Amino acid sequence: MVLQQAQRQSENEAGTAVRHSAIRADDVHVTYDDGTEAVRGVSLDVEEGEFFGFLGPNGAGKTTTIKTLVTLLHPTQGSVRINGYDTKTDARAVRESIGYMAQETSIDFELTPCENLRIACRMYGVPKDQRDERIEELLDLVDLRDVADKRAETFSGGMQKRLDTATVLVHRPPVVFLDEPTTGLDPEARLRVWNYFEKINDQGTTVFLTTQYLEEANELCDRLGLLQDGRITHTGTPDALKSAVGTDTVTLTLKNPSDGTRRRAVNAVRRLKDLDTATIERTADGLTIEADNARSTTSELFTELAAADVEVTDFDIQSPTLDDVFLTLAGEDDSSDTSTKDDTVSARAVAR
Ligand code: ADP
Repeated sequence: MVLQQAQRQSENEAGTAVRHSAIRADDVHVTYDDGTEAVRGVSLDVEEGEFFGFLGPNGAGKTTTIKTLVTLLHPTQGSVRINGYDTKTDARAVRESIGYMAQETSIDFELTPCENLRIACRMYGVPKDQRDERIEELLDLVDLRDVADKRAETFSGGMQKRLDTATVLVHRPPVVFLDEPTTGLDPEARLRVWNYFEKINDQGTTVFLTTQYLEEANELCDRLGLLQDGRITHTGTPDALKSAVGTDTVTLTLKNPSDGTRRRAVNAVRRLKDLDTATIERTADGLTIEADNARSTTSELFTELAAADVEVTDFDIQSPTLDDVFLTLAGEDDSSDTSTKDDTVSARAVAR
């Protein structure tokens, strides 16, 4: 993913790589006619090739935001640029350069995948002489070739979602928006659909996904924005968000937890230069270590302990999860000044 992103970067005259924004929103507000302020100052900058996740509880404003990004709603205040086009003044160019999979399916269940894709090709203006090839390619991408001529009404929910995904890709859009694409799917179907989203992203497509599923966000996204009450409260990589709420905790059980062994173990841990140790505590059985990066330095830890002749009989490591992120960060005050919190987890959050 990173390699492709690098390949997609262009160079300026000085030969320096320039990163392009695929999606840029500046202080977007959306107020519905009944006065509901669904989006209250969203700013984001998603780079070409990124897989960006928009995470938030029901009613947070995810669908309103995504509809605004794809030109179905206009911001009451603020501006949006997609692939460099302004959604207000260049809505048509925006629409031609994106794929949008809404929560409600756009496929016709009485038709076959081939027929659905043919209609989508017409709608998106794919040149006639390219349609057959494009349809074949997409049937392969979403694994529906074997059922290409069966009516979609006989399909499982997962197969229908895959067909839906294919229909928004017929014009090879560089940016794809997916609004809660796996809601209602069973875990196995969800895993398969994830696989296709990853494939699309691996081919260089920027993906903007809204989800209520933490696991989905963790699995797929390079970077996340947490939305609450119409505001982005935090942005960052899943790992940065997790380390913002806590550290890894390592529990070591030693074969011979005598004072001498535990002392050698403590010294071994202290010798690990790469370990960002917060605390080392002696327990009855061994040690507990808290460190930001314990998981990524496990092998060095074991090497150092072995060199100090410390035998470990049990080892456990606990890291914060996105659930912890959500519970901790979303539970914080909902002050509108988010700049400090954003800065701690993301250098790429859009300056306000
Ligand atoms: P999410 O996708 O995160 O569940 P939505 O964008 O659907 O959130 O909704 C955000 C807020 O806007 C909610 O309070 C919702 O009730 C309200 N809302 C959504 N659509 C409309 C509408 N058409 N008219 C008025 N309020 C709406």
